[in-house]
Amino acid sequence: MLKVENLHVSVEDREILKGVDLEINPGEFHVIMGPNGSGKSTLALTMAGHPKYHVTNGRIIFEDENVVSMGPDERAKKGILLAFQVPPEVEGVKIIEFLQQVLMELKGFDPVEAYDLIVKKARGLWFKEEDLHRYVNVGFSGGERKRLEILQALLIEPKVLILDEPDSGVDVDSLSIISRKIDELHKKGTAILLITHYGRILEHLDKEALRVHVMKEGRIVKTGDSNLVERIEREGFGRIFEEVGA
Ligand code: ADP
Ligand code: MG
Repeated sequence: MLKVENLHVSVEDREILKGVDLEINPGEFHVIMGPNGSGKSTLALTMAGHPKYHVTNGRIIFEDENVVSMGPDERAKKGILLAFQVPPEVEGVKIIEFLQQVLMELKGFDPVEAYDLIVKKARGLWFKEEDLHRYVNVGFSGGERKRLEILQALLIEPKVLILDEPDSGVDVDSLSIISRKIDELHKKGTAILLITHYGRILEHLDKEALRVHVMKEGRIVKTGDSNLVERIEREGFGRIFEEVGA
Protein backbone atom coordinates (compact mmCIF):
# COMPACT_ATOMS: atom_id res chain seq x y z
CA MET A 1 0.00 0.00 0.00
CA LEU A 2 2.72 2.46 1.00
CA LYS A 3 6.29 2.15 -0.14
CA VAL A 4 9.10 4.51 0.75
CA GLU A 5 12.03 3.96 -1.61
CA ASN A 6 15.54 5.31 -1.15
CA LEU A 7 14.15 8.48 0.37
CA HIS A 8 16.57 11.38 0.68
CA VAL A 9 15.29 14.54 2.33
CA SER A 10 16.87 17.92 2.93
CA VAL A 11 15.87 20.77 5.17
CA GLU A 12 17.41 24.13 4.47
CA ASP A 13 20.04 22.48 2.23
CA ARG A 14 21.09 20.01 4.90
CA GLU A 15 20.51 16.35 4.12
CA ILE A 16 18.59 14.73 6.99
CA LEU A 17 17.26 11.49 5.49
CA LYS A 18 19.91 9.53 3.63
CA GLY A 19 18.08 6.72 1.88
CA VAL A 20 15.12 5.35 3.84
CA ASP A 21 13.30 2.24 2.63
CA LEU A 22 10.05 1.17 4.22
CA GLU A 23 7.05 -0.83 3.09
CA ILE A 24 3.69 -0.77 4.85
CA ASN A 25 0.92 -3.12 3.79
CA PRO A 26 -2.77 -2.77 4.70
CA GLY A 27 -3.44 -3.40 8.37
CA GLU A 28 0.21 -3.67 9.40
CA PHE A 29 1.65 -2.09 12.53
CA HIS A 30 5.12 -0.59 12.24
CA VAL A 31 7.15 1.03 14.99
CA ILE A 32 10.09 3.37 14.50
CA MET A 33 12.54 3.97 17.30
CA GLY A 34 15.81 5.87 17.36
CA PRO A 35 17.75 8.49 19.29
CA ASN A 36 16.83 12.17 19.21
CA GLY A 37 17.78 13.78 15.95
CA SER A 38 17.91 10.54 13.96
CA GLY A 39 15.29 11.81 11.51
CA LYS A 40 12.07 10.20 12.76
CA SER A 41 9.96 13.37 12.67
CA THR A 42 11.53 14.33 9.35
CA LEU A 43 10.35 11.03 7.90
CA ALA A 44 6.85 11.51 9.34
CA LEU A 45 6.52 15.11 8.16
CA THR A 46 7.87 14.26 4.71
CA MET A 47 5.36 11.43 4.33
CA ALA A 48 2.56 13.83 5.25
CA GLY A 49 3.79 16.43 2.74
CA HIS A 50 5.20 19.21 4.94
CA PRO A 51 6.52 21.87 2.52
CA LYS A 52 9.73 22.48 4.46
CA TYR A 53 11.06 19.00 3.77
CA HIS A 54 12.47 18.58 0.27
CA VAL A 55 12.70 15.16 -1.31
CA THR A 56 15.98 15.24 -3.23
CA ASN A 57 15.93 11.58 -4.24
CA GLY A 58 13.68 8.54 -3.99
CA ARG A 59 9.92 8.06 -3.98
CA ILE A 60 6.91 7.65 -1.71
CA ILE A 61 4.45 5.38 -3.46
CA PHE A 62 0.93 5.20 -2.04
CA GLU A 63 -1.51 2.88 -3.79
CA ASP A 64 0.63 2.85 -6.95
CA GLU A 65 1.04 6.63 -7.13
CA ASN A 66 4.08 8.72 -6.28
CA VAL A 67 2.77 11.23 -3.72
CA VAL A 68 5.97 13.28 -3.45
CA SER A 69 4.62 16.15 -5.53
CA MET A 70 1.21 16.14 -3.78
CA GLY A 71 0.33 18.62 -1.05
CA PRO A 72 -0.71 17.57 2.46
CA ASP A 73 -4.45 18.03 1.71
CA GLU A 74 -4.35 15.73 -1.26
CA ARG A 75 -2.46 13.10 0.74
CA ALA A 76 -4.99 13.37 3.56
CA LYS A 77 -7.82 12.84 1.08
CA LYS A 78 -6.04 9.72 -0.15
CA GLY A 79 -5.90 8.37 3.39
CA ILE A 80 -2.55 9.35 4.87
CA LEU A 81 -2.86 11.10 8.23
CA LEU A 82 -0.13 12.40 10.53
CA ALA A 83 -0.57 13.00 14.25
CA PHE A 84 2.04 15.61 15.14
CA GLN A 85 4.76 15.28 17.78
CA VAL A 86 3.99 18.86 18.78
CA PRO A 87 0.38 19.61 17.83
CA PRO A 88 0.15 23.33 16.97
CA GLU A 89 -2.11 25.89 18.64
CA VAL A 90 -4.61 27.46 16.27
CA GLU A 91 -5.88 30.67 17.83
CA GLY A 92 -9.39 31.64 16.73
CA VAL A 93 -10.37 28.21 15.37
CA LYS A 94 -12.74 26.18 17.53
CA ILE A 95 -12.13 22.44 17.75
CA ILE A 96 -15.70 21.58 16.84
CA GLU A 97 -15.68 23.78 13.74
CA PHE A 98 -12.33 22.48 12.62
CA LEU A 99 -13.38 18.84 13.02
CA GLN A 100 -16.73 19.45 11.32
CA GLN A 101 -14.86 20.96 8.38
CA VAL A 102 -12.55 17.95 8.23
CA LEU A 103 -15.47 15.49 8.20
CA MET A 104 -17.35 17.51 5.60
CA GLU A 105 -14.33 17.71 3.29
CA LEU A 106 -12.87 14.25 3.72
CA LYS A 107 -16.00 12.22 4.38
CA GLY A 108 -18.87 14.17 2.88
CA PHE A 109 -20.73 14.56 6.19
CA ASP A 110 -23.30 17.27 6.76
CA PRO A 111 -22.57 19.62 9.71
CA VAL A 112 -25.19 18.15 12.09
CA GLU A 113 -24.15 14.56 11.41
CA ALA A 114 -20.54 15.60 11.93
CA TYR A 115 -21.34 17.39 15.20
CA ASP A 116 -23.01 14.34 16.71
CA LEU A 117 -20.21 11.98 15.75
CA ILE A 118 -17.53 14.34 17.05
CA VAL A 119 -19.23 14.73 20.44
CA LYS A 120 -19.69 10.97 20.74
CA LYS A 121 -16.09 10.09 19.85
CA ALA A 122 -14.76 12.96 21.96
CA ARG A 123 -16.43 11.53 25.09
CA GLY A 124 -14.45 8.33 24.60
CA LEU A 125 -11.30 10.46 24.84
CA TRP A 126 -12.53 12.34 27.94
CA PHE A 127 -13.49 15.56 26.19
CA LYS A 128 -16.72 17.18 27.33
CA GLU A 129 -18.94 18.90 24.81
CA GLU A 130 -17.92 22.32 26.13
CA ASP A 131 -14.22 21.50 25.63
CA LEU A 132 -14.92 21.26 21.91
CA HIS A 133 -15.80 24.94 21.82
CA ARG A 134 -12.27 25.92 22.83
CA TYR A 135 -9.67 26.96 20.27
CA VAL A 136 -7.52 24.16 18.85
CA ASN A 137 -4.83 23.30 21.41
CA VAL A 138 -4.76 26.79 22.94
CA GLY A 139 -3.89 26.37 26.60
CA PHE A 140 -4.04 22.58 26.26
CA SER A 141 -1.88 20.24 28.32
CA GLY A 142 0.36 17.69 26.59
CA GLY A 143 -2.14 14.91 27.25
CA GLU A 144 -5.07 16.94 25.90
CA ARG A 145 -3.19 17.80 22.72
CA LYS A 146 -2.29 14.20 22.03
CA ARG A 147 -5.83 13.04 22.78
CA LEU A 148 -7.13 15.61 20.31
CA GLU A 149 -4.79 14.20 17.64
CA ILE A 150 -6.20 10.74 18.34
CA LEU A 151 -9.75 12.11 18.12
CA GLN A 152 -9.00 13.37 14.60
CA ALA A 153 -7.66 9.97 13.65
CA LEU A 154 -10.72 8.16 15.06
CA LEU A 155 -13.01 10.44 13.07
CA ILE A 156 -11.09 10.18 9.82
CA GLU A 157 -10.17 6.47 10.07
CA PRO A 158 -7.27 6.91 7.61
CA LYS A 159 -5.72 4.08 5.62
CA VAL A 160 -2.36 4.89 7.16
CA LEU A 161 -1.91 6.72 10.43
CA ILE A 162 1.52 8.09 11.25
CA LEU A 163 1.86 8.86 14.95
CA ASP A 164 4.88 10.93 15.93
CA GLU A 165 5.57 10.24 19.61
CA PRO A 166 1.95 10.12 20.76
CA ASP A 167 3.40 9.19 24.16
CA SER A 168 5.65 12.21 24.68
CA GLY A 169 4.57 14.70 27.32
CA VAL A 170 1.46 12.77 28.37
CA ASP A 171 0.39 11.59 31.82
CA VAL A 172 -0.08 7.87 32.54
CA ASP A 173 -3.87 7.94 32.20
CA SER A 174 -3.77 9.70 28.85
CA LEU A 175 -1.11 7.26 27.72
CA SER A 176 -3.31 4.27 28.40
CA ILE A 177 -6.38 5.73 26.65
CA ILE A 178 -4.26 6.79 23.67
CA SER A 179 -2.75 3.35 23.42
CA ARG A 180 -6.17 1.66 23.56
CA LYS A 181 -7.56 3.94 20.88
CA ILE A 182 -4.60 3.23 18.60
CA ASP A 183 -5.29 -0.46 19.07
CA GLU A 184 -8.98 0.12 18.26
CA LEU A 185 -8.09 1.91 15.01
CA HIS A 186 -5.62 -0.79 14.05
CA LYS A 187 -8.23 -3.49 14.62
CA LYS A 188 -10.63 -1.58 12.37
CA GLY A 189 -8.05 -1.85 9.59
CA THR A 190 -5.90 1.29 9.75
CA ALA A 191 -2.22 0.60 9.10
CA ILE A 192 -0.07 2.27 11.76
CA LEU A 193 3.39 3.81 11.72
CA LEU A 194 4.17 4.65 15.33
CA ILE A 195 7.24 6.65 16.27
CA THR A 196 8.23 6.29 19.90
CA HIS A 197 11.03 6.55 22.41
CA TYR A 198 9.56 4.12 24.90
CA GLY A 199 8.15 0.63 24.79
CA ARG A 200 5.48 1.59 27.27
CA ILE A 201 2.83 2.66 24.78
CA LEU A 202 3.15 -0.76 23.16
CA GLU A 203 2.04 -2.57 26.31
CA HIS A 204 -1.64 -2.48 25.35
CA LEU A 205 -0.96 -3.58 21.78
CA ASP A 206 -0.71 -6.95 20.10
CA LYS A 207 3.06 -7.40 20.20
CA GLU A 208 3.05 -10.33 17.79
CA ALA A 209 1.99 -8.04 14.98
CA LEU A 210 4.70 -5.39 15.35
CA ARG A 211 7.45 -4.66 12.85
CA VAL A 212 10.12 -2.58 14.55
CA HIS A 213 12.63 -0.34 12.79
CA VAL A 214 15.56 1.47 14.32
CA MET A 215 16.80 4.74 12.85
CA LYS A 216 20.19 6.32 13.08
CA GLU A 217 21.43 9.42 11.30
CA GLY A 218 18.77 9.43 8.62
CA ARG A 219 18.70 5.71 7.87
CA ILE A 220 16.87 2.62 9.06
CA VAL A 221 19.73 0.48 10.31
CA LYS A 222 17.84 -2.47 11.74
CA THR A 223 14.39 -4.08 11.47
CA GLY A 224 12.96 -6.80 13.67
CA ASP A 225 10.04 -7.89 15.83
CA SER A 226 8.90 -6.73 19.27
CA ASN A 227 11.94 -8.31 20.92
CA LEU A 228 13.88 -5.41 19.51
CA VAL A 229 11.82 -3.00 21.63
CA GLU A 230 12.63 -4.95 24.77
CA ARG A 231 16.32 -4.99 23.87
CA ILE A 232 16.38 -1.24 23.31
CA GLU A 233 14.68 -0.66 26.66
CA ARG A 234 17.21 -2.90 28.37
CA GLU A 235 20.44 -1.92 26.62
CA GLY A 236 19.80 1.34 24.79
CA PHE A 237 20.73 1.81 21.12
CA GLY A 238 24.53 1.55 21.41
CA ARG A 239 24.94 -2.23 21.23
CA ILE A 240 22.52 -2.57 18.32
CA PHE A 241 24.36 0.13 16.37
CA GLU A 242 27.69 -1.62 17.03
CA GLU A 243 26.32 -4.95 15.82
CA VAL A 244 25.10 -3.57 12.53
CA GLY A 245 28.21 -1.44 12.12
CA ALA A 246 26.23 1.80 12.06
P1 ADP B 1 13.90 12.99 15.60
O1 ADP B 1 12.43 13.17 15.36
O2 ADP B 1 14.39 11.60 15.32
O3 ADP B 1 14.32 13.46 16.95
P2 ADP B 1 14.17 15.07 13.59
O4 ADP B 1 13.65 14.51 12.33
O5 ADP B 1 13.29 16.00 14.34
O6 ADP B 1 14.67 13.88 14.53
O7 ADP B 1 15.53 15.83 13.29
C1 ADP B 1 16.59 15.28 12.56
C2 ADP B 1 17.62 16.35 12.28
O8 ADP B 1 17.07 17.29 11.38
C3 ADP B 1 18.02 17.14 13.52
O9 ADP B 1 19.39 17.38 13.43
C4 ADP B 1 17.22 18.42 13.38
O10 ADP B 1 17.89 19.50 13.97
C5 ADP B 1 17.10 18.60 11.89
N1 ADP B 1 15.83 19.25 11.53
C6 ADP B 1 14.61 18.68 11.54
N2 ADP B 1 13.65 19.55 11.18
C7 ADP B 1 14.26 20.71 10.95
C8 ADP B 1 13.82 22.01 10.54
N3 ADP B 1 12.53 22.26 10.31
N4 ADP B 1 14.76 22.97 10.41
C9 ADP B 1 16.06 22.71 10.64
N5 ADP B 1 16.54 21.51 11.02
C10 ADP B 1 15.67 20.53 11.17
MG1 MG C 1 10.87 13.78 16.55
